[in-house]
Amino acid sequence: MDNYDVIVAGAGIAGSLAATAAAKGGAKVLLLDRNDYKEVGKKTNWGWVCGDAVAKNHTDFITKELGITFDYPELDLKVDGVYAFSPDLEHKFMFEGEGYVLNRPRFAKKLVDTAVKSGAIYESKFEVEGPIIDDNKVVGIFGRNEKKEQVRINAKMVVDALGVASMLRRKLPQNNYIERDVSTDDIESTGRYIMSFESKGEDLTYYDPKNALIHLNQILAPGGYGWVFPKKGNIVNIGLGVEKKSLEIRNSKLNKKDTLHTLIDEYIRWNKVIEQKELDNTDNNGKGYWSVTVRRQFDSLVYPGYLGAGDSMAMPNPISAGGIGPAMTAGVLAGQTAAEAVAENNTSLEFVWKYNRRFNELYGNKTAAMEAFRVYLQSMNNDLLNYGMAHFITESEAVDISYGRIPELTLASTFTKILHGIANINAFRGLVYTVSKMKRLNEIYKNYPQTPGEFSNWKGLVKAEMAEVKEKFKPNPV
Ligand SMILES: Cc1cc2nc3c(=O)[nH]c(=O)nc-3n(C[C@H](O)[C@H](O)[C@H](O)COP(=O)(O)OP(=O)(O)OC[C@H]3O[C@@H](n4cnc5c(N)ncnc54)[C@H](O)[C@@H]3O)c2cc1C
Repeated sequence: MDNYDVIVAGAGIAGSLAATAAAKGGAKVLLLDRNDYKEVGKKTNWGWVCGDAVAKNHTDFITKELGITFDYPELDLKVDGVYAFSPDLEHKFMFEGEGYVLNRPRFAKKLVDTAVKSGAIYESKFEVEGPIIDDNKVVGIFGRNEKKEQVRINAKMVVDALGVASMLRRKLPQNNYIERDVSTDDIESTGRYIMSFESKGEDLTYYDPKNALIHLNQILAPGGYGWVFPKKGNIVNIGLGVEKKSLEIRNSKLNKKDTLHTLIDEYIRWNKVIEQKELDNTDNNGKGYWSVTVRRQFDSLVYPGYLGAGDSMAMPNPISAGGIGPAMTAGVLAGQTAAEAVAENNTSLEFVWKYNRRFNELYGNKTAAMEAFRVYLQSMNNDLLNYGMAHFITESEAVDISYGRIPELTLASTFTKILHGIANINAFRGLVYTVSKMKRLNEIYKNYPQTPGEFSNWKGLVKAEMAEVKEKFKPNPV
């Protein structure tokens, strides 16, 4: 039975960065993943399923913290920003700013190579099956190695970076800190193809070689959105996400039997520019489906002996479902905290609690507000979305919301006098209510507990506000 300072489970984005940060912090690190080295970071049998778009400020954070620089080929294409279109394509808002569409297999390989260069030991083809628990503390993991032998490995700290379906999180004892499951209402079923194509004319609402495009449309992508992200050459990452209840309501109201799979095919046909397309199956990564959470990250990311980072902790942005950035931030912070705990010989919950506070300061303290907005958005049909993007908010207010900041709604409030139609007026009132809830949630997060002892009360406040929002707005795609 080997003993390590830190076991990092999962060599995706969060895990490889956590292993790098922990090893640079002086810890003896074991990085485990089920994939062979040549397929490192692959999420499922379907490949590295992702839209692969990430804002530059996130890659800059990694360069600043760990000294890793990125370039082609792992950064496949630089983009100026992300445009979100209204269902009628009449209105668009620019979000995020400069960023990249990644070559995900190359990116993952670069991250694991860096972890190994920093001193982490990478063991591939290892299936993590659960945590070893001793006296309500995680003291290691058990699983099967390459030879399928049952193995137990001990460590002072375990970092869970196993992604959305994490076997470690789900097998923790029932506890007050980490939720073991995510509600299906907070999950998007998503899928995407990587395709080469011939452009049929130029129409930047359907394909833009310099920008990532998002199409809000409750018929095409109920409860989610479709995306067309350009890659180098005439290649796109094209896909969409749906929310289960929204899809069911949409199907029953329209008397249809669509599934995620049929909707993706329909979305690709709907696109007027992408013609003569062919699956680009490089790295066996052409077509795949997987889940993304769209809620705030778990209220605590810490359990005795255990830190969670990335999708295992529901970190993707509740509005955009972008999870690469938060997985990077959390990976670095979790690795650094684990190394500090080992160096100080203090792996107590009180000591590692600072990871919760650090993540909230750098990223997490706005995501509850974003979750509230996402719930509101899913209650809007296409007509309301069209009208809302035209009349309710300005582009800068929409951008504020996308970062969880509170827009003033000054310009829009002047429109209350001229809004037409009772449904539109009610939807605007809903927006004003949502913004007030966002403000309240941001205030609660400003007072994120300094110690585990204050956590229960604080968590109750968040839960109550979110329950109110979810009671008020129900999915209503059609
Ligand atoms: C279709 C789709 C589109 C998306 N588009 C975007 C986008 O454009 N931009 C963006 O920012 N985010 C996007 N996301 C989200 C983003 O992909 C994730 O947030 C990101 O991959 C999270 O990284 P991670 O390291 O936490 O987890 P993962 O990438 O899931 O890595 C987990 C690792 O753990 C391994 N593993 C899992 N279980 C075990 C086990 N039991 N034993 C051993 N190893 C195991 C996996 O093989 C994998 O290597 C998208 C997601 C989907 C599904």
